[in-house]
Amino acid sequence: MSDCIFCKIARRDIPSEIAYEDDEILAFKDIQPLAPVHLVIIPKIHLRNLNDVTSEHEQLLGHLFGVIPRLAKEFGVAETGYRVVTNNGTDGGQVVGHLHVHLLGGQALNAAIG
Ligand code: AMP
Ligand code: ZN
Repeated sequence: MSDCIFCKIARRDIPSEIAYEDDEILAFKDIQPLAPVHLVIIPKIHLRNLNDVTSEHEQLLGHLFGVIPRLAKEFGVAETGYRVVTNNGTDGGQVVGHLHVHLLGGQALNAAIG
C-alpha cells in the first residue's frame, strides 16, 4: 500500500525507531507514547485490521505474538507487567489502517479497557 504510513515505515520511506525486525514483522517505538514503554508491532504485509485475517495468516500472527514477550523482556517490563492492545475500526479507536499491536508498559496502566 503506497499511501499507508506503516507500510512506509516498513519500507523505510519514513524513519522510525526500530526495536525489532525480521522478514515478516517490524516493531518500532510509538511516536506519541502513552506509557514509558510503547511499541507498535506490525506484520510487514498490509492487513487493514483483524477483519482481514484468514487462516493463512495464523503462522504470521503466532510469530508476531511470539516476539512480544521477547520485546517485553528486552524493554524491562516482562516482570512488572504490560498490556497488548489491537484497535480495530472506528469504534475500536483504530487510526492507522494497517494491523498493529501496541505493547504498553513501564507504569501502572489505567485498568479501564472500554
Ligand atoms: P491506533 O490508534 O491503534 O491506530 O494507533 C496508531 C498509533 O500509531 C498511534 O499510537 C500513533 O502514535 C502511532 N503512530 C502514528 N504515526 C507514527 C509514526 N510515524 N511512527 C511511530 N508511531 C506512529
Ligand atoms: Zn500498510
